Amino acid sequence: MSVAGYQVTREECESRISGVCPGCGGPLVAIETVDNARNPTHWSGCLHCCVFTDGCPPETQRLARTLVEEGTLVPYSRDSAEALWIESNTRRVTQILRRIKALQDLAGEAS
Ligand SMILES: [Zn+2]
Repeated sequence: MSVAGYQVTREECESRISGVCPGCGGPLVAIETVDNARNPTHWSGCLHCCVFTDGCPPETQRLARTLVEEGTLVPYSRDSAEALWIESNTRRVTQILRRIKALQDLAGEAS
């Protein structure tokens, strides 16, 4: 266990943050929380979206948002407020794009 009784200290968490929020593209911060065993820790997340996330490259989030806004890839139906709908869909499309990139990288390693 790390100093101050935290599984992950604020400093450790902040040092691991890279990229932006996959939903809104905003900054990520270290959020004090507890893990599944109820131990105090810090996880990275977006305070605007109220989600824990490891973040994604800014260019991936921008591409995902463009796909959502132009209607090319919209995983979730429109059942919430406009901003929340765009950010939820952008977050999901970012996951899809990152999965595609991982599969492309695997295919590249195999060839
Ligand atoms: Zn966000």
